[in-house]
Amino acid sequence: MKAQIITIGNELLIGQTIDTNSAWIGSELSRLGFDIYRKITSRDNKDEIIDALELSAGKSEVVLITGGLGPTSDDITKQALIDFFKTRLVVDHEVMAMITDMLKKRNLPLNENNRRQAEIPESCLVLTNAVGTAPGMWFEKYNTVFISMPGVPSEMKYIMHTHVFPRLKSRFMYQNILHRNIMLYGIPEASLAELLASFESELPGNVKLAYLPSFGIIKLRLTGTGKNRDTLDQVLDKQVMKLRSLVPGNIFSEEETTMETVVGTLLRQNGQTICTAESCTGGNIAHLFTCIPGCSDFYKGSVIAYDNGIKRKVLDVPGEIIERYGAVSEEVVEKMAAGARLLLGTDYAVATSGIAGPKGGSELKPVGTVCISVAWEGGAATERHVFGNDRVININRFSVAALFMVWKQLSGMVRHP
Ligand code: AMP
Ligand code: MG
Repeated sequence: MKAQIITIGNELLIGQTIDTNSAWIGSELSRLGFDIYRKITSRDNKDEIIDALELSAGKSEVVLITGGLGPTSDDITKQALIDFFKTRLVVDHEVMAMITDMLKKRNLPLNENNRRQAEIPESCLVLTNAVGTAPGMWFEKYNTVFISMPGVPSEMKYIMHTHVFPRLKSRFMYQNILHRNIMLYGIPEASLAELLASFESELPGNVKLAYLPSFGIIKLRLTGTGKNRDTLDQVLDKQVMKLRSLVPGNIFSEEETTMETVVGTLLRQNGQTICTAESCTGGNIAHLFTCIPGCSDFYKGSVIAYDNGIKRKVLDVPGEIIERYGAVSEEVVEKMAAGARLLLGTDYAVATSGIAGPKGGSELKPVGTVCISVAWEGGAATERHVFGNDRVININRFSVAALFMVWKQLSGMVRHP
């Protein structure tokens, strides 16, 4: 089962708008088991859009098209579709009623451009759009289903969820498709691939493995296809068990989730609390925790101790330790974590101090160096890591590394000394 994507819009080619539609469609369709065969991005130009349609026809079961359906004159997709499918425009009264109703609710006048949006190619099936004025359109020709949708991401997603997924499922899904997402951290992708080489080559023919890395976290996705759901479940369970034994200590979840969510869930289960003392991450770990609904159960607060004076005055880090070892040192983060834990009265505290870059590195402490400490009653674990040169990426990587250290403590992956 193959699918292709065509995104249309001058703004996509000049980098003014990032083509998030094709990323979203690609990811959703691949989860449904489609092989995404090709993506074309075209300008708002009738002949060039027709070129893209011709190139796609007959090469895959489905072609998903977004963009160029707006009410303005630069949106030319409908004209291209008319020519390509050799059809004509007719007013669709249901669409006209929906547009009139929507504009009335928003207190907007109905003008000629809106009226034109109710003109639909005669040979298509209309996919109504309750969140915007341009409906989607479903065409069938050359053994291919062509689906044209507006470019506005929320409208495209509405049409996909309401019309496209149910229709694609009933038309193309003869098999069950099941996924298992295994979330790992602490092992580089290339090393993981090496470690899993024989696992991968021994996978049954109906199971595929994908590596999806982000900020050091690797999501391993196993996708299985099969007629019998229970059998497929068992096949995937067996592979997950194999993975567990191959990378013990790196799997922090067997569901698609974030590391902070896993840490938060463990703390909540244990009835324990945590706080943060952040220098180089500047509150990013606090932000990650506070994005979790109900985090007040386990997250108490943060001291953003960016300045050495704050490290001393608020977190009680002795000035001579900062002087002797430098702000980015195991000794300082250990004191930061201990100070924050006492100040905020939590079971755990996690502290970061590092050089996010792009400047400020030295031979001993290059840009990308971070020291992280996790403190608990009567103990602490402290680590030093070196990441890259990009400031924002470093802040994210430092944060994930810090969360992983907390996870290791909570999950019993390392024993308290
Ligand atoms: P259109 O249907 O071409 O009128 O698109 C309306 C708006 O949707 C554009 O101005 C863009 O901001 C946005 N848009 C269009 N195509 C995409 C795309 N592929 N990815 C993300 N946003 C898009
Ligand atoms: Mg456009």
